[in-house]
Amino acid sequence: MPDKILILGGTGEGRAAARRLVASGAQVISSFAGRLDALPDVPGRVRVGGFGGAAGLAAYLAEEGITRVIDATHPFAAAMSHHARQACADLGLPLERIERPLWPKHPGDRWHWADDAAMAARMAPKLGRRILLTLGAGGLPAFAKVGGPFYLVRLIEAPGRVALPHHQVVLGRGPFAVGDEIALMRYFRIDLLVSKASGGLATQAKITAARRLKIPVVLIRRPKSGEVGPPGDGPHKA
Ligand code: NAP
Repeated sequence: MPDKILILGGTGEGRAAARRLVASGAQVISSFAGRLDALPDVPGRVRVGGFGGAAGLAAYLAEEGITRVIDATHPFAAAMSHHARQACADLGLPLERIERPLWPKHPGDRWHWADDAAMAARMAPKLGRRILLTLGAGGLPAFAKVGGPFYLVRLIEAPGRVALPHHQVVLGRGPFAVGDEIALMRYFRIDLLVSKASGGLATQAKITAARRLKIPVVLIRRPKSGEVGPPGDGPHKA
């Protein structure tokens, strides 16, 4: 019987896996949480929305006759990965995790580590006055209470209300070029970058740009495997 594969997506890696597997003739369903209005353009079937926890996912896998699951979710999507491990273990299904490598640290990088967005928000005003935030809409509330600096907020899609005191929103979706990131940071006179330690090539250019401009970076640590973060810390970021 041919494989019927569920890809838990929402990332470039997930879209690439769907393209590769569909081209090889496999039956593929890509699953998205539905946080963004626009659906990504992927071959194969697409489903949108939560499953209802690990039990809901297990029921879906059984009902669809899925033979293999690929977890290509973002490194900060800890709940979904946790549910995938649980559901696949319960059903005895093979689960492959596409890991995104951390960005390598180079001489000249000025990185400051934060455990979460709240800690990053406390650190940021001590390190910069004009701050580029690339955390997604879910990371913004932590900064709402920290008045003082100017925040340039980069998101994939136009947000609802952004409750930051002094800010501007720019829209963009990776992959970004280093030259464009340098131009953006220079134009807005950015003196600090705040980012999740997402890793991967699509958003690495901002880290390279910060190094070249000698701008410090506050990096939020990835959740540990099995550690489930606050709800809504979603993907509307770039
Ligand atoms: P999360 O905290 O791990 O997931 C919260 C809930 O959203 C899950 O329990 C599940 O609901 C649902 N969900 C998450 N991913 C799903 C998927 N691929 N298909 C169907 N349901 C999904 O995830 P998140 O951090 O909110 O991220 C949501 C999506 O955005 C993920 O697909 C992720 O790859 C993508 N993304 C996240 C980030 C980020 O920084 N967190 C960045 C870029 C992209 P049920 O429990 O009801 O099944």
